[in-house]
Amino acid sequence: DRGAAYAFSDLKKGPDGLVPVVVQDVKTDAVLMVAYMNEEAYNQTLRTGRMTYYSRSRNELWLKGETSGHYQYVHSLTADCDLDTILAKVTQVGAACHTGSYSCFFNEIQNRSSKQEAHNPMKVFEEVFAVIEDRKEHPKEGSYTNYLFEKGIDKILKKVGEEATEIVIAAKNPNPNEIKYEIADFLYHMMVLMAEKGVTWEEVTTELANR
Ligand code: AMP
Ligand code: ZN
Ligand code: ZN
Ligand code: ZN
Repeated sequence: DRGAAYAFSDLKKGPDGLVPVVVQDVKTDAVLMVAYMNEEAYNQTLRTGRMTYYSRSRNELWLKGETSGHYQYVHSLTADCDLDTILAKVTQVGAACHTGSYSCFFNEIQNRSSKQEAHNPMKVFEEVFAVIEDRKEHPKEGSYTNYLFEKGIDKILKKVGEEATEIVIAAKNPNPNEIKYEIADFLYHMMVLMAEKGVTWEEVTTELANR
């Protein structure tokens, strides 16, 4: 159903006539960015399925990804209890932030947690994979990932083979940390291979779940 339960007129606007949108990655649950919509942006988003905002700095309609290619495809749009904020769950292409960061929220102000936050393994895989796919599409100066893509499939396969062998060697090493470094190296190179071959994590996990 492509219809919408709320019109823009049903929503409460700020003094500038805009409604803030919290944008979340549907695959990783990461909060990606906050942007604003006017009525035109809201209606265009509903019609096209691509996140469209109103740029307060440029004072114009802003199709996210129009220049960067980093489009956001709508999964769902939800208004909060008092209808003054929208939560958008999206499929993010590449990085959400114009700095190239996956999420805009990287300027830590305070972190009172004493312990390292627990990382959900699948979310970390999806995040790393998203960065690798973005490097493929938008090469970055000095990037090792881009070096691998430029060298091509044979170089990537050689690295995957080497890193697999290093896991075997590390497993015989009495230093218990060694193996986790090598597994991380292997997984990274395997994800570069996945990106090169057009295989997604979803395809791999679906296959595993069906066995
Ligand atoms: P894009 O919509 O990704 O093609 O980016 C176009 C322009 O919008 C960029 O050059 C930035 O000025 C701005 N922009 C893109 N993404 C963000 C963001 N997450 N937060 C703030 N400004 C952004
Ligand atoms: Zn509430
Ligand atoms: Zn609210
Ligand atoms: Zn940003």
